[in-house]
Amino acid sequence: MLKINNHLLEGEKTAFITSPNKSGKFIQGLPDTLIIHFTAGPSALSAINTFTNPAYQVSAHLVVDYDGSVTQLVPFDEIAWHAGVSSWGGRTGFNKYSIGIEIVNPGNLTKVGNEYQAWYGTKYPAAKVIKAVNRNETKTRFWHIFSPDEIEKAMELCRLLTDTYNIKYILGHEEIAPQRKLDPGPAFPLNRLRDRILNGRKDNGNDGTLPVIGKVIATKLNIRELADTQSAKVAKALVNGTQVEIFDSKNGWYKVAVKVTGWVSGKYIEIEN
Ligand SMILES: [Zn+2]
Repeated sequence: MLKINNHLLEGEKTAFITSPNKSGKFIQGLPDTLIIHFTAGPSALSAINTFTNPAYQVSAHLVVDYDGSVTQLVPFDEIAWHAGVSSWGGRTGFNKYSIGIEIVNPGNLTKVGNEYQAWYGTKYPAAKVIKAVNRNETKTRFWHIFSPDEIEKAMELCRLLTDTYNIKYILGHEEIAPQRKLDPGPAFPLNRLRDRILNGRKDNGNDGTLPVIGKVIATKLNIRELADTQSAKVAKALVNGTQVEIFDSKNGWYKVAVKVTGWVSGKYIEIEN
């Protein structure tokens, strides 16, 4: 279990590496906001190197890795440099109001043949990718999925920070800098995370996981036992507009829950987070 002692995170799979990229303590009553980011990079190490290098003038309080391990770079009572030019709810410059949580993820990807390429050149397989629309845009893009450990850890951290500090808002970087930023993007279940933590809502019977929400866009969509067109159907075909919770992805299929659990072709699901 994670805890916070003297503004530092403690617990299994946590580390502290100090960053020089910070600007003193928050004023009384702050921080009151958590900002969620993706790193748009290949690894936690590359993010930590950037966020601790004085030449880059950027940082965050936390970096969450694929396996759920967390590195803190700035104590929670000090101002880190993750928000940049930003405004929301009548306030500007969110570094002075917020704790920044960076989650390791390549960000949006470009299709190259059968693979999906990040800006830094690495190619990822289709099984790691979803096609979805960012809340600030209207066109679809390809996005790398977040690991279940990352989503679970992000939720645990947001809950702990909300309980420890006077947190009123949980926002995506894309919401406070909509002209510049696309993170954490539609592969991250941001709406549901803040509903759960700030509004105390529970998802039906799936505590601990935070599924992405999708909608059936085919007229009828078969739901099968396995991610294979030859596999047995587990229920009547899903009809257009049916909302599903997506728990897993494999070879272009999503594992979804409606009243039953089964696999459907990802081509016919639109992500709704
Ligand atoms: Zn960001």
